[in-house]
Amino acid sequence: MTNITPFIETRALTHIYNEGASFEKTALDNINLKIEYGECVGIIGHTGSGKSTLIQHLNALLKPTSGQVLVDGLDINADKKALKKIRERIGLVFQYPEHQLFDLTVYKDVSFGPLNMGISKEETDVRVRESLRQVGLSEEFYEKSPFELSGGQKRRAAIAGVLAMRPELLILDEPTAGLDRRGRDEILNHIKALRDEKNRQTIILVTHSMEDIARVTSRLMVMSHGKIVCDGVSAEVFDRKAELLESIGLAVPQIAELARRLREKGVGIPEGVMTSGPAAEALFKLANEKGLI
Ligand code: ADP
Repeated sequence: MTNITPFIETRALTHIYNEGASFEKTALDNINLKIEYGECVGIIGHTGSGKSTLIQHLNALLKPTSGQVLVDGLDINADKKALKKIRERIGLVFQYPEHQLFDLTVYKDVSFGPLNMGISKEETDVRVRESLRQVGLSEEFYEKSPFELSGGQKRRAAIAGVLAMRPELLILDEPTAGLDRRGRDEILNHIKALRDEKNRQTIILVTHSMEDIARVTSRLMVMSHGKIVCDGVSAEVFDRKAELLESIGLAVPQIAELARRLREKGVGIPEGVMTSGPAAEALFKLANEKGLI
């Protein structure tokens, strides 16, 4: 039997806030997950389900009460000296990351991470240009103050700051929160582009939006009360676990729900249709076949 070490793994990961106090709270309850290089995984769940607590364990910002977090098979909390390296490998973009923009120009702000890691000025320049390109901010933004940018642009600049550290795993916590439709579409499209690049950025997208998941991630983990209650291919989860999702108050995306119901009535919509583009395509094809158009 081949034994391939997963990139990220948690074993019986449990986190209790204020352990021993009358108000202690089990935020993570025996989480076992594995993520491979190149995967793009969505984590969804209501406020308070444990998503933020989980991702903060993946770069050792929080320590397990019990259990382990392994990166390439190594326990990240076993060796204090290794922590800095782990934080470089696992890039975490917090909610509202634009609140942490601070420097005079976008270019300087994005340079901060790599320079702080000891990367040379020349290599930092390459990285800054590359990561700003990845988030769709062209050279005209380099010398602007981050505070002159629109909400969506600010957020993209903040994401570029983490990308410039070239993390092997990029974790985005609610990257579309509070943005208007356009800002949200832009962010999701850039995340999709990162996912599809040749070297396939490994991504965890934390959200409470099923629509975001349907548009971006192929795999979905559902959290509820500190546990992962469902983990599978997004399209299959929407199709086969709709009742479970509803029972914890998470609605399947409308288009996925419509497609599933039509399939149940024998209408030939293929599995995996979750967003408007593929749905329109399937309906056109069907209408054509039936000679309706
Ligand atoms: P989510 O990210 O899904 O909203 P969190 O991981 O923030 O969930 O929270 C999980 C549970 O842990 C919640 O009940 C929350 O109130 C509790 N919690 C989160 N952070 C703390 C903290 N610093 N101290 C005590 N309890 C916390």
